[in-house]
Amino acid sequence: MGTETTLVSEAPCEITLENFLEFPEGRKVLSCIQCGLCAGTCPYGDVMDYPPRRIIAMLRAGMLEKVFHSESLLNCVACYACMAKCPRDIRLTEVLLPLVKEEIFVHLPEVPPELQKALQNTLRYGNPMGESPRKRVAWTKTTDVPIPILGEMSRPVDVLWFVECYTSYHPRGQDNSRALAKIFNGLGIDFAILGNEEKCAGECARLVGEAGLFGTLQDYTMTLFRRYEGRFNRIVTSGAHAYDAFRYQYPALGFDYQVDHTMPFLFQHLEQLKPMLSRKLNYRVTYHDACCLGRHNGFYEEPRALLTAIPGVKLVEMTHNRINSICCGGGGGGMWLDTYYKAKGYERLSERRVKEAVATGADVLAISCPYEVSRFEDAAKVLGYDNKLVVRDISELLAEAMQS
Ligand code: SF4
Ligand code: SF4
Repeated sequence: MGTETTLVSEAPCEITLENFLEFPEGRKVLSCIQCGLCAGTCPYGDVMDYPPRRIIAMLRAGMLEKVFHSESLLNCVACYACMAKCPRDIRLTEVLLPLVKEEIFVHLPEVPPELQKALQNTLRYGNPMGESPRKRVAWTKTTDVPIPILGEMSRPVDVLWFVECYTSYHPRGQDNSRALAKIFNGLGIDFAILGNEEKCAGECARLVGEAGLFGTLQDYTMTLFRRYEGRFNRIVTSGAHAYDAFRYQYPALGFDYQVDHTMPFLFQHLEQLKPMLSRKLNYRVTYHDACCLGRHNGFYEEPRALLTAIPGVKLVEMTHNRINSICCGGGGGGMWLDTYYKAKGYERLSERRVKEAVATGADVLAISCPYEVSRFEDAAKVLGYDNKLVVRDISELLAEAMQS
């Protein structure tokens, strides 16, 4: 479970499109056999003028400039499907596509307003919703269990819980946080959060091509971690994208903490957790593999093991599962491009996924990335399935199965 997958990047942080071919990771594009698997597996491959295969062909022909003037990669939701399927192990989603997107961003005549607003909010307030940084910690007042804040403590803790944005501010994300707090408390985890000092980890800004914003957020968070050096042993985050940022990007700035996403972290505590799951939940559940956790990090079985540990849960699989899972459409800036996609007449990926979930006969769509709850709930509502299917984070289901 949770393999050290082959998708781990070793790309140096100073890699750019100009020096791309000077690095082993960059030279890998020369091994591209133009098989088209990347384009074929891409959920928006049919609407992209320049899917990864063509980008590489243009790069090799010295014609990449043309790609910079296309909106093609605004349709890339950073789902890691192309990278997972590439027979030459080219780090498309992780390295090449963000570099190309950076240039596209510079050349775009107009950034779609919803995306522009989310990026401005992230820069100004530290979260894409534009919520007050002073209210980041407000959710902790609505829990039954104490949520310690590291800066207010006089002793070190074992786990620094990096909550992230949607799980701090979005009402349904807060349900996930309250559930996690209950589970951590039940397990006796010695934890604290950063509270109002925490800001977005920045991975989606990076994946949309806003490298400058990502750098600003990365510098801020690294400074915070250094300030609390020796006050925590490891980091656990509820954000699948934050997990990716900490695991693959932050080490370039000296980040060397052990980091876990909450799903594999809870899986490590499964034997301790099982006796606490005493309430039977007679749900038929289907699980949506989050792209970052599944395809990018190989955590396919941990979320399923947590779900099947709940008494009464019957797990059923969607047609596309594990490595073939369809993205919710929220990564790589997609979270703030629904209006743009709608105007183009594209089917939202969240709706495509909800149709698959309903086809299984499941009454619960279980998720593990904080972006997904609002995306899938909205899609279910739009499709008229909100009476048939509820969307629940796995942490919410686990907390529900705990008697008190
Ligand atoms: S899947 Fe890999 S090898 Fe095949 S065209 Fe795409 S980048 Fe090239
Ligand atoms: S990361 Fe996903 S959306 Fe982006 S090009 Fe690859 S397959 Fe398409």
